[in-house]
Amino acid sequence: MKTFNYCPSCGVGGILFDGIKEFNCKECSFTFYQNIATAVAVILEYDKKILLTKRGEEPGKGKLDLPGGFVDPKESAEDAVKREIREELKIEIGALQYLGSFPNIYEYKDVIYNVCDLFFYSRIKTLPADFDRAEIEELILVNPSEIPIDKFAFESTQKCLSLFCNRQ
Ligand SMILES: [Zn+2]
Repeated sequence: MKTFNYCPSCGVGGILFDGIKEFNCKECSFTFYQNIATAVAVILEYDKKILLTKRGEEPGKGKLDLPGGFVDPKESAEDAVKREIREELKIEIGALQYLGSFPNIYEYKDVIYNVCDLFFYSRIKTLPADFDRAEIEELILVNPSEIPIDKFAFESTQKCLSLFCNRQ
């Protein structure tokens, strides 16, 4: 797993990591917090079915996911959902209902990101006519009772869907 071997400020080796989120350089007192990233995902309902995606990229390429992604700097979680849906599914969505949050570990190019995933729910009246084929392999529409929870890329999504499906 990749981490900092040298201080990004003074270049001295042996920067200390507290094992949780803080990097410290003894030489120049440079401090860096690898704080939790925020990501959003949305359970999109269309005609009593749920719209799932098959991931087109690592991590979890080929596994199932919900539409969503990382929150950008200076962006609200709600705006991130709307932007991601616009980018991935080429549609606009309306009212969002916040469902809850779950921690996730996201590994990308040998770097571990600790993420807090925020889950939302929304209804759509028309299905996407197109989607971002780089990020998404396939769109899948399923009954809530038939969502294959174990086929999802991330544990956070599995936990959210387990709760959501039990409520139906
Ligand atoms: Zn330093």
